[in-house]
Amino acid sequence: MASTASATLLDQNVTKFVSRTHKILINGKWVAAASGKTFSTYNPATGEVLSQISEGDKEDINLAVKAARAAFETGPWSKITTSERGRMIWKLADLIEKHLEEFAQLESLDNGKPLSVARVADVPLAADLFRYMAGWATKIEGNTIPISSGGGKTQFLAYTVREPVGVVGQIIPWNFPLLMAAWKLGPALATGCTIVLKPAEQTPLTALLLGEMIQEAGIPDGVVNIVPGYGETAGAALAGHPDVDKVAFTGSTEVGKLILKAAAGNLKKVSLELGGKSPNIVLQDADVEAAIPGAASAIFFNHGQCCCAGSRLFVEHEIFDKVVEGVAKVAKNIHVAPGMDPSSDMGPLVSEEQLNRVCGYLESGISEGAKAVTGGSREGNKGYFVKPTVLVNTNDKMKVVREEIFGPVVTVIPFRNVEEIAAQANNSNYGLAAGIWTRDIKKAHRLASLLRAGTVWINCYNVFDAALPFGGYKESGWGREMGHEVLEQYTEVKAVCTPIS
Ligand code: ADP
Repeated sequence: MASTASATLLDQNVTKFVSRTHKILINGKWVAAASGKTFSTYNPATGEVLSQISEGDKEDINLAVKAARAAFETGPWSKITTSERGRMIWKLADLIEKHLEEFAQLESLDNGKPLSVARVADVPLAADLFRYMAGWATKIEGNTIPISSGGGKTQFLAYTVREPVGVVGQIIPWNFPLLMAAWKLGPALATGCTIVLKPAEQTPLTALLLGEMIQEAGIPDGVVNIVPGYGETAGAALAGHPDVDKVAFTGSTEVGKLILKAAAGNLKKVSLELGGKSPNIVLQDADVEAAIPGAASAIFFNHGQCCCAGSRLFVEHEIFDKVVEGVAKVAKNIHVAPGMDPSSDMGPLVSEEQLNRVCGYLESGISEGAKAVTGGSREGNKGYFVKPTVLVNTNDKMKVVREEIFGPVVTVIPFRNVEEIAAQANNSNYGLAAGIWTRDIKKAHRLASLLRAGTVWINCYNVFDAALPFGGYKESGWGREMGHEVLEQYTEVKAVCTPIS
């Protein structure tokens, strides 16, 4: 790690915020955990304690679900107009923008990502998502449907309405803490659901600040309840709760399967946004000058802690050496430093556990014969930094090629036959995203049609928009986030019909 410039001065509100012992938001009140317990959140750049958080568990989840149920059935939320609902969601977006710097600093401290990235990506994208969803609040419509029942003797009027699914449990990960809260809360609010949100134990701070903004935006008490705590306790209680109508989860495929089992008790609806091992394919006719930085950013953005990271880079053999050299050069020039250091391009991984996991993968890959063109190990010995790593000499049997690493590690694999590359790219249990780099428009779209992935980026990568649906094929998940598609996950369709003759 190169020496670091002085860190950005902390916003006064951020200093105050981290020094508080944080409570749980239930029914519009900030309360201590029923057990009285707290847990610590850590600064991954130093490993030091950052903040104390009330530790929600089953009892707190029960209280939060009760509040959400009451708010859904009888509270003011169930009676306000969709236009008012939209206006509140829009106001929440305004408040996020107003407090952009606080959110960005908290995110950098808690998660480790560069402050500069949180300022231009996480926080503005969260505000955008709420604005997009605010617009939907007034546009959730059904259809009138001509039906033939009655054989012409009786005429029917038949129509559908889309109603909120009810009380929703939302469990989110630590890689984009505020943005994942927005992806989940936005559509739930737009459709009129009520919510119990459980942030990741590693990164609860921005969701808690968002809770304060939700109150300031005038969203009624009990509509959004926020219960920080651990996955096996608070998370499991929420996923298994008999009075929760739907659970929405983003995280690992392994935990996604546990959520599914827990949800089976009352057959609550389930949406899952899970892991990935996304192929990024560079054809020999690509604009290599764009493909090289594109491929590097596809894996190194957010330190590789993206479910859609382009972690399997396939390069047509004619340009393999050039692309490997180019991506390795970008990797070497990435300045790895604490997120609050203005010169940081890449911060630490989120936790010691992640550091050990990623380093374990590096050791396993290298022991199986992979070669690190650059990187390949931890960076420094304080904080949870890992060197951006480019691995070659890999094969499809290696764990580093098959399993999601969730760190700044790309395997680069040459290929000779464009006709076969889709099959090789699809040779994964995952199917979240894929990238294609080529100047040939026909090849690009043909390949896009063959790839089994929820998103295909052509000559770009990691382009997100509130209007674009995102989610996975295969073991990458169920359902879609964002776009109008997500609204289906938060509504029930009711068919109404009556004779009119
Ligand atoms: P990661 O492996 O990326 O840390 P996880 O899938 O473990 O992601 O965690 C994502 C979210 O799921 C977090 O909020 C975590 O607390 C929660 N979680 C973990 N285990 C469980 C579980 N058994 N039931 C419900 N939620 C869980």
